[in-house]
Amino acid sequence: MKIALVAHDKKKEAIIQFSISYAPILKKHELFATGTTGKKINEATGLPITRFLSGPLGGDQQIGAKIATNEMDMVIFFRDPLTSQPHEPDISALMRLCDVHQIPLVTNLAGAEVMIRALEAGFFDWRNLLKNEDN
Ligand code: PGA
Repeated sequence: MKIALVAHDKKKEAIIQFSISYAPILKKHELFATGTTGKKINEATGLPITRFLSGPLGGDQQIGAKIATNEMDMVIFFRDPLTSQPHEPDISALMRLCDVHQIPLVTNLAGAEVMIRALEAGFFDWRNLLKNEDN
């Protein structure tokens, strides 16, 4: 599965701890992230991650583009709901595209824990069926 990881600045530590905790599951998948999030997760875990631009510079839109073309299977997004973000329109657009294309999206740690366990249990294997239909 192709998994996108994004965390706003005040949630970076949380996504690092999440990635360390679930590295044995995450390492079985293809990981993508916005620039700084990806750098920090890679430094903390050694997991290989394809990094897009930093979120405020267009990274969220790059992930959105992958969703639009059915090249991303899920999004784990640690949002900071208490700080205004300069790229709020990009964040809304990313979440909107997840809804348009039925891409599983979580926006906090509690949801991410459920998502990653569901992933490991095979609950998202239907994504592979959809991709095979596209080919
Ligand atoms: P960053 O971007 O990983 O480059 O910090 C995340 C964001 O703020 O959307």
